[in-house]
Amino acid sequence: MEVAIVGAGPAGLSLAWFLKGTKYNATVYEALDDVGKKPCAWGLMSGVESLLPITKDSIISEIKGFRIYLNDKLIHDVRGKQTLGYIINKPLFLNHLAERLNVKFNSKVIRKREGGKEEYYLVNGEKINADMVVISNGHYELPKDHTIPAIQYITDYKIDPEIVEFYFYSDLLGYAWIFPDDKGSKIGIGGYADINFLKERLSKLVKGKVFTFHGARVSDYGIEEQRLKEKKYVGEALGTVYPLTGEGIRPSILSSKIYADSLLEDKDFVKEFKSSKLYFTIQAQAKIIDGVKKKIMSISLLSKLLTKSDPDIVYKIAIGDFGMSDLIKLFGRSLL
Ligand SMILES: Cc1cc2nc3c(=O)[nH]c(=O)nc-3n(C[C@H](O)[C@H](O)[C@H](O)COP(=O)(O)OP(=O)(O)OC[C@H]3O[C@@H](n4cnc5c(N)ncnc54)[C@H](O)[C@@H]3O)c2cc1C
Repeated sequence: MEVAIVGAGPAGLSLAWFLKGTKYNATVYEALDDVGKKPCAWGLMSGVESLLPITKDSIISEIKGFRIYLNDKLIHDVRGKQTLGYIINKPLFLNHLAERLNVKFNSKVIRKREGGKEEYYLVNGEKINADMVVISNGHYELPKDHTIPAIQYITDYKIDPEIVEFYFYSDLLGYAWIFPDDKGSKIGIGGYADINFLKERLSKLVKGKVFTFHGARVSDYGIEEQRLKEKKYVGEALGTVYPLTGEGIRPSILSSKIYADSLLEDKDFVKEFKSSKLYFTIQAQAKIIDGVKKKIMSISLLSKLLTKSDPDIVYKIAIGDFGMSDLIKLFGRSLL
């Protein structure tokens, strides 16, 4: 069975990886000439190490702790022995997968409706003849109001390679970050604000020599239910980004795992996905963001809860390792 996968990000490549060696013969079509070109802070939380290879050379550092700031004041400085996640060289990580898969670069896929049916072509006019097509093209075709802008500077500012920093503000639904990387650090911000506001806010955090400034939009809406029903989307294209944190690499890989398992075990993807912890936790975070947008909770209260509450609970909620009782502990019943 021929499977065409549109987009060689974490979702598309991991789906091809999970189908490798099965009756599903996957070809990944990538619009760009290489993997990992999309702006990203390269933070990969623990939880997918057993699913696909994260080679030593693609790990820049292991994250062992985090600092949380509210309105530029340090609130929590948490460090332990346990590895919470990694700063990875994302292009290298993706490249190691891509070189062991069938990936066609410079192959932008476009859709055409023909005779009531969706058909897929490469931009050069070549038709994709596959038994099934899975779309993992990230945020690119999501409605603009389902995404927020995120920008970052890549600098030579050296920080502790084992610590990630998060900066919350009482007037921003979003946050800024400083993540270590191989050159120094990535200093970024994302949220419900225009680029000028985000740039201005970030200017106070940017240190060192700036090598690059870039940005992209990122989903913060939660699962795209209509797309889920169509059973042909994975990754950010399906909305698998944690709305409170913008974490999209690990959830996108997890969505592809559920997709591949459903195919291989002949199960219904919608049913499997909806009963997953991934679905519950992304939708719970989306509900919190929606509650703030609808003014059920103020931005300053959300920022306060995320920064001043027990960091263990906040951490569980941030990484999507929570149940209803954790949500109630943090937010009370009113929002849920
Ligand atoms: C500034 C910023 C920082 C971020 N930092 C982090 C972080 O530290 N950790 C984290 O977990 N997440 C982070 N994210 C989110 C994360 O980058 C994404 O959610 C994640 O990469 C989604 O994976 P994906 O495979 O679904 O989509 P993508 O990584 O977006 O991959 C989609 C691929 O599809 C290709 N494509 C698009 N259209 C077509 C087409 N028509 N034909 C063929 N190919 C196509 C694109 O070129 C791309 O390669 C960040 C996002 C931003 C914007």
